[in-house]
Amino acid sequence: MPATPEKSPVTPRRKASRHRGEGQWAVGHFTPLNGNEQFKKDDDGLNVRTRIETIYSKSGFDSIDPNDLRGRMRWWGLYTQRKPGIDGGKTAVLEPEELDDKYFMLRVRVDGGRLTTEQLRVIGQISEEFARGTADITDRQNIQYHWIRIEDVPEIWRRLEEVGLSTTEACGDTPRVILGSPVAGIAEDEIIDGTPAIDEIHRRFIGNPAFSNLPRKFKTAISGSPLLDVAHEINDVAFVGVEHPEHGPGFDLWVGGGLSTNPKLGQRLGAWVPLDEVPDVFEGVISIFRDYGYRRLRTRARLKFLLADWGAEKFRQILQDEYLKRELVDGPAPAEPVSRWRDHVGVHRQRDGRFYVGFAPRVGRVDGATLTKIAEVAGEHGSSRLRTTAEQKMIVLDVEEQQVDSLVSALEALDLRVRPSSFRRGTMACTGIEFCKLAIVETKARGSWLIDELERRIPQFEEPITININGCPNACARIQVADIGLKGQLMLDGDGNQVEGFQVHLGGALGLEAGFGRKVRGLKVTAQELPDYIERVLKRFEAEREDGER
Ligand code: SF4
Repeated sequence: MPATPEKSPVTPRRKASRHRGEGQWAVGHFTPLNGNEQFKKDDDGLNVRTRIETIYSKSGFDSIDPNDLRGRMRWWGLYTQRKPGIDGGKTAVLEPEELDDKYFMLRVRVDGGRLTTEQLRVIGQISEEFARGTADITDRQNIQYHWIRIEDVPEIWRRLEEVGLSTTEACGDTPRVILGSPVAGIAEDEIIDGTPAIDEIHRRFIGNPAFSNLPRKFKTAISGSPLLDVAHEINDVAFVGVEHPEHGPGFDLWVGGGLSTNPKLGQRLGAWVPLDEVPDVFEGVISIFRDYGYRRLRTRARLKFLLADWGAEKFRQILQDEYLKRELVDGPAPAEPVSRWRDHVGVHRQRDGRFYVGFAPRVGRVDGATLTKIAEVAGEHGSSRLRTTAEQKMIVLDVEEQQVDSLVSALEALDLRVRPSSFRRGTMACTGIEFCKLAIVETKARGSWLIDELERRIPQFEEPITININGCPNACARIQVADIGLKGQLMLDGDGNQVEGFQVHLGGALGLEAGFGRKVRGLKVTAQELPDYIERVLKRFEAEREDGER
């Protein structure tokens, strides 16, 4: 099937409009309206793999077709990284090729965050051999390498695939990694285990050319945990575990969440979906996005814009009438989670009597050597399974009670805290200027420094708190839904010098009280002043808060 059909993959569902409209296939608009739509029409992003294996990895970086380099390679998880030494002031003024390094970021998808110790060992070895030791845990449960040379990509794929991992559609206008509860199948309080649905969606739709040309990225989350642990509110489609009063455990269907510019929280369609129907409903929602999604402007090409125009009721109707050909069952909303922490950090009993142990690296930053050691330590304590979380944390599963203390000590010795401070636990940071071409400021090292400063200044602070740091106005670290969201930008300090700083968003949240933080006009803080500012905010919060106030 061509990447963009001359005709719709389905019969156009509406009469073609005389106007160019939003480039929706379902109303007969197949002429590409921008460069991205054109390169997708010219060739399916999935096809770039053959060129990487047969041409680019042999002839080197300079042989790569620009439309592959800055477009289709994403379909296999590859982005060029930022050339070192270019400051944030140049981000917007340089041409993309001037920012491009000859090295890549490579994202490994970890659907459901599920890893074996063997897989983690291979991830660690690849990091040390091909990625200068880099390997970050992302807030979408993925692993990200940097410093990857195109020459090494086929060998990296071979090693990953040998242990059942892949980079297929880890980036690009595709169905991205499927978030899953990191404690699926083991938690005592689980409502329903969504793992079979994750596996079936992966089998049917990932790497499937029928869904490899979407208007933009498509994010999925499935969790049956009452802790609401996959940030379902900010995914394009999410299935959230609920108990139906008549039908039993199943999933509440949410659509149209997404942050970045024009952030929107997902909306409930009021429908209950049993486990075995999740893949079909997923197919219906992603097909609506493919067929009706807006393709004219990249900034309006997420499902949230279509939902905003249609409303939840019409969306459900079209899903039922045109795609599922049946009615969905009405169902209840999820209940308020009992904890504000959703990360599973700490020691918890599994339903089989063993334990899982969640730990917090600093802002998702680990390295290949540490990942290899984590795999070793887990193995020495009788575990062969680990999970990554949507909060840049990790969990070792299946630990016998008598092994727990020793495991905790071994992890802590690697600076992986099982009982971290609120600051270590609640601070996330995106990639930032170290590697990201869109970044304006540094984030990872700054986040780590901030944790140290806050731990030293207010060691008694124990409230759950989220401090999310972004290197630019995008939302990779979810600043809009943090208690304290920090959006990187350049600003003038007191002496009139241009310095790195942050616009502050206060009071955002996920969960049943989900909402976006407020951007107080003019509230910008230089990077250097961050610890002073946050210390002031938190001390004042502690002194003046009302009962139950967050
Ligand atoms: Fe890059 Fe901006 Fe995303 Fe951070 S938020 S990783 S700087 S695009």
